Amino acid sequence: MSFKNKMLVGVFFMEAIMISTLIVGILGSWISFFIVLPFYVMGVFLMTGVYRRYIRYVCPVCGAKFNLNKNILGNLFMIVDFVLSSHPREVDATCSECGHSGSCEEVYDTK
Ligand SMILES: [Zn+2]
Repeated sequence: MSFKNKMLVGVFFMEAIMISTLIVGILGSWISFFIVLPFYVMGVFLMTGVYRRYIRYVCPVCGAKFNLNKNILGNLFMIVDFVLSSHPREVDATCSECGHSGSCEEVYDTK
């Protein structure tokens, strides 16, 4: 299974559990939601860690590889965006080395 598919399965699994406990909550019992919530937050942190460890953006000007500093919510959106996009893709980013701002190629290394 490719790295992207693993991320996709992970996100799908987490969201499926979260949404189902949310539905159970709306139907009357919030207990399962609050039991699952800390694991969900842990899962998001874990996936953020994996994402930040393997995903890099390549600056077209200086060739530096860098990752983006985002808050936890920003990372979550990036992960969802990542698993739903086709690859390879270009992402608008600012290079941490030379300050170039524009589309940078997204690469991931899972060796
Ligand atoms: Zn650069």
